Amino acid sequence: MSDNLYDLLASRFPADRNRPCFILSDGSEISYGVLEAGVARIAGLLIAKGVTPGDRVAVQTEKSPEAVMLYLATLKCGAIFLPLNTAYTEAEIEYFLTDAEPALFVRDAIALAAEAADAPPLTHTVVRDAGDLASIIYTSGTTGRCKGAMLSHGNLADNALTLHRIWGFTADDVLLHALPIFHVHGLFVALHCAFLSGAPMVWLPRFADAEVLEGLKRATVMMGVPTFYTRLLANPGFTQAAATHMRLFICGSAPLLPSTFAEFELRTGQRILERYGMSEAVIITSNPLEGERIAGSVGYPLPGVELRIAGGETGVIEIKGPSVFGGYWRNPRKTKEEFAADGYFITGDVGHQDADGRVWISGRAKDLIISGGYNVYPKEIELLMDEMEGIVESAVIGVPHPDFGEAVVAVVIAAGNGSAEDEAALIAAARQTLAAFKAPKRVFFVGDLPRNAMGKVRKNLLRERFKGTFG
Ligand code: AMP
Repeated sequence: MSDNLYDLLASRFPADRNRPCFILSDGSEISYGVLEAGVARIAGLLIAKGVTPGDRVAVQTEKSPEAVMLYLATLKCGAIFLPLNTAYTEAEIEYFLTDAEPALFVRDAIALAAEAADAPPLTHTVVRDAGDLASIIYTSGTTGRCKGAMLSHGNLADNALTLHRIWGFTADDVLLHALPIFHVHGLFVALHCAFLSGAPMVWLPRFADAEVLEGLKRATVMMGVPTFYTRLLANPGFTQAAATHMRLFICGSAPLLPSTFAEFELRTGQRILERYGMSEAVIITSNPLEGERIAGSVGYPLPGVELRIAGGETGVIEIKGPSVFGGYWRNPRKTKEEFAADGYFITGDVGHQDADGRVWISGRAKDLIISGGYNVYPKEIELLMDEMEGIVESAVIGVPHPDFGEAVVAVVIAAGNGSAEDEAALIAAARQTLAAFKAPKRVFFVGDLPRNAMGKVRKNLLRERFKGTFG
């Protein structure tokens, strides 16, 4: 029997292939039958172009149903799918192509699908073992050089089956899909849950308030990053009534502020389900579908995931489990560095697990600040500052300091005008609650925080910008 992920997904497509897979903004639909036929033709074309099992197919293309067909076609012909962020520059692309040596690089999935219109379809799916690679995901690179996380058919299948089950997906669901598909969230988590349910997706090329509000009338589940939720809340058209058709709002890829969680509940009566994941393991923990979803916690390890905290109560999260990747592409040194001797993957996220088993994340290990020899976890200060009158959001970083090594600096989006008095007042307020070494030494006011496509604050850019603060 083959462990090709495409076989598993296709086995769950609806028996009636006329059922919709994609519901587009203009109201038109693309059926599962059309998807399946498109996949077979594109797979045939890939083979005609010389792609063989184990080859990489690199893709940098706009989001479209054809791009999804190309993903599935790559699986079907036994090749390895390598999606690239549409924001990458030519110089970055050059690095990925040199590193991954793809047999084919596709920049326009729609043109490729058109070219495949006359291709002889591939009628069978190429046999793959669970351990064979399905995809290489270059990690988003908010810190350091990008590495290609190697995910197997088994990694992806296991995670998809678990999520489909624990989030209660059925054929009656309609998934609102507004995420990019070059990242694990939109590509694996969202698509696989829909395919395993044989469910349709309200398919949006990107997050746009008006289209999302329209889509919510038909959808039952939305998967989003925190910025989707803050943008919805900023729109007066997003009311309790606008959310009544929805059974589940899922959030991840970056920390969801407790204030967003609370405001969302107040507005809609629904509690966002936050989960935690990464390119190297897809989803790792989730708040429960049934049972309490707690703001600020990313929930429990998924069934089958072993999770431990290294070195004390709060420390680096390490994991083992069926979805954990096999290593970094052609990078045995990095792979060795990031796995413990007993096989646990060192995630680089810092957190703790409470008595109940829930996981709480306090930030990335690389963002840890060491000031005067003391460890400062930015999240602790951010949570406090976000609660302060007039602060919309904060990002806390460490910058070089002649006495302390590093000093704590807060970069904030604030309602006020950002005067020197405002800064002094915020620092004084922080000192009332925090030990002096944790309180920010400076507060900078900004209109916006730099973020990547998944909504993660790019702290490396902030560190660069404010590195000269103390001389
Ligand atoms: P990526 O590999 O690009 O998906 O980034 C993975 C990283 O995103 C994780 O290592 C975390 O630092 C962060 N992340 C993902 N989900 C969450 C979450 N719910 N809360 C906090 N951080 C998260």
